[in-house]
Amino acid sequence: MDIRFVKREQLKEKPDQKNLGFGKYMTDYMFVMDWTKEDGWIDARIVPHEPISLDPACVTLHYAQETFEGMKAYRTKSGKIQLFRPEMNARRMIKSNERLCMPAFPEDMFVEAVKELVKVEKDWVPSEPGTSLYIRPFMFATESALGVHMASKYKFMVICCPVGAYYAEGINPVKILVEDELVRAVQGGTGFTKCGGNYAGSILGQVKAEKMGCTQVLWLDGVHRKYVEEVGTMNIMFKIGGEIYTAPIEGTVLPGVTRDSIIHILKDWGYKVNETHLAVDDLMKAGHDGTLEEAFGTGTAAVISPVGEFVYKDDIVKVNNFEIGKLTQKLYDYLTGIQWGDVEDKYGWTVDINA
Ligand SMILES: *Cc1c(COP(=O)(O)O)cnc(C)c1O
Repeated sequence: MDIRFVKREQLKEKPDQKNLGFGKYMTDYMFVMDWTKEDGWIDARIVPHEPISLDPACVTLHYAQETFEGMKAYRTKSGKIQLFRPEMNARRMIKSNERLCMPAFPEDMFVEAVKELVKVEKDWVPSEPGTSLYIRPFMFATESALGVHMASKYKFMVICCPVGAYYAEGINPVKILVEDELVRAVQGGTGFTKCGGNYAGSILGQVKAEKMGCTQVLWLDGVHRKYVEEVGTMNIMFKIGGEIYTAPIEGTVLPGVTRDSIIHILKDWGYKVNETHLAVDDLMKAGHDGTLEEAFGTGTAAVISPVGEFVYKDDIVKVNNFEIGKLTQKLYDYLTGIQWGDVEDKYGWTVDINA
């Protein structure tokens, strides 16, 4: 792929690595490519990160034909930069796009675009412990026309921002509200895609959770509101009676790259992993009778997020005394070890960026 480069007059000042937060500072450049019905994907370019202009009738603003991905570049102690299973993000975006009737952005082009942009932005990949460069590929319809239909023009873009250690003060377990009214996804819907609309519909649940002193929502299945599915931007796993439970990938749950990696590791460590429908009543019961040993969310941003408490209707269950579980900690150390290059990557999951 030929990538045109438009140089910035002046580079931005880099923020303090100890105070990055999440998604606050954008890097100097972005990758852009356009799609038209006649020509397919054209004009790959890396250009200064700056506002783009859209017609107010741009269909995305009205009908949300938008998909995205989330991944990271990690700087190892020796100064190397590496990605984690980028082809998984590329393939997932193709699946999301298929569901939303958007053109596929080919896997090899996706990985190349991300690599080339990170190479240009190598000085933005932070080196403080726990920090990384968050990468946000996304795609949306750019046609201007009111009327719901497949668009004739799309844009694929990649932006980046350095992000801080997710747990600045050590890993803290979170309180989770089990949502028994609102739903996130149903079979046949868009739950398995990373599309903007899924998140717009979930904010109300998040607001409700925060009002009740919780930081996240645990969504139940959209039909019976009975089976546990996933958290806002994380998949969720439970250790009950020595075995692992997590919702199956059947169209409603997002197929997380972290989820897949953790399942691989757990099976290698000899755990039985049940990808099955777990009823929330059984989860609460396990919490009360002591068989619920650990619970944690999995996702690119936090990697592993231990759950300390579940609130469901009038019932509250504490997990492991609101402390991070042994297995949760071990998984966190091992997977982040691979990502930051401190642990041997025996799975071949990391991809070097030869910057
Ligand atoms: C992104 C996301 C996840 C986690 O996926 P990863 O690939 O592990 O980052 C899980 N659930 C939802 C709803 C998500 O948006």
